[in-house]
Amino acid sequence: MSERVATPVAPGGTIGILGGGQLGRMLALAAARLGLKAHIYADDADAPAFQVAAAHTRAAFDDKIALAKFAAICDAITFEFENIPEAAVSYLAALKPVHPSANALAPTQDRFAEKSLAVSLGLKTASFFAVNSGDDAAEAFAGLGGHGVMKTRRFGYDGKGQARVSSAEEAARAFLAFKSAPSILEGFVDFAFEASVIAARGQDGRFAAYDPPENFHEHHILRRSTVPGRLSTAQIDEAKTIAKTIGDALDYVGVFCVELFVTKSGKLLVNEIAPRVHNSGHWTLEACLTSQFEQHIRAVAGWPLGPVTRHSDAVMENIIGAEAADWQALAATGGALYLYGKSEIRQGRKMGHITRLKPSRGGH
Ligand code: AMP
Repeated sequence: MSERVATPVAPGGTIGILGGGQLGRMLALAAARLGLKAHIYADDADAPAFQVAAAHTRAAFDDKIALAKFAAICDAITFEFENIPEAAVSYLAALKPVHPSANALAPTQDRFAEKSLAVSLGLKTASFFAVNSGDDAAEAFAGLGGHGVMKTRRFGYDGKGQARVSSAEEAARAFLAFKSAPSILEGFVDFAFEASVIAARGQDGRFAAYDPPENFHEHHILRRSTVPGRLSTAQIDEAKTIAKTIGDALDYVGVFCVELFVTKSGKLLVNEIAPRVHNSGHWTLEACLTSQFEQHIRAVAGWPLGPVTRHSDAVMENIIGAEAADWQALAATGGALYLYGKSEIRQGRKMGHITRLKPSRGGH
């Protein structure tokens, strides 16, 4: 367990952030707004977060000398993506407070552990089976009684390491295509729509959840988040309770996201827990008094959480791949435009986002 900060990081202090993508970039900007300095640690030469941070280190995540130097400069440390090697997190936690802790991070790095945790907490998920061999895959498929989705247990994102399967043979083939990496087979959920809940837990155990957006994916990549979405008031309350149950169980400090499937019969199934700020929460930058980025920095720094009140309805749209070439047209549409400073446009790459607000219709 990482040690708890007895005293908060005061303005002028430094928050270390492992990872230098757009999430790290927006965290660094939020830290600056609170008078804190962000120090980004990433292995990528032109990490988008380097451009806006007070300082950065470019080094590998297994470079203990660089990690120790980084820790010496930081007052508290966090991360912006979940695939940080656990060894790096544990190493840093022995030197400085790291939030969320290595213990909270571990189950979210493995889809089987993550879904098992949800079930152990009495939450609902798609049916799922661990797959460690081609035979397991075929057997698990027989147990599903329908279509399935094969996923690697670790390192999948935006649909990578995922395949829809309709027969035992396809399941076995998908496992081989994943180079026999430990996997899970999930039942295919014919959901009504997807949603997510972004929540925060402070070092004092206080909890705050944002209104859950409805999310629409295209080619496995988030296209749009809309708040309010189609969730009923009861489902909104249930989504927030699911997040609280998970946050408390992990003794979590910081912002996290629970991705949900909303079934046609109105059930909420936990799909994934992201131990970080999340793409489906970018609208909080404009529509809430405290954005998810500021909230995370507050929690990591040991500050009180800010209010999560939403004053506007919002639609956040990602700018993906070549769409970023249209920046002049996007800039003219009147939405809040973010471009992430990525030097190269690649297909499927998240290049920016744009949020449009409307005065809140009230209710949720
Ligand atoms: P994930 O990487 O688990 O977040 O999956 C990415 C996207 O694939 C989800 O947001 C869904 O749109 C789809 N998906 C994943 N798992 C399932 C499932 N068991 N049933 C139906 N769709 C799924």
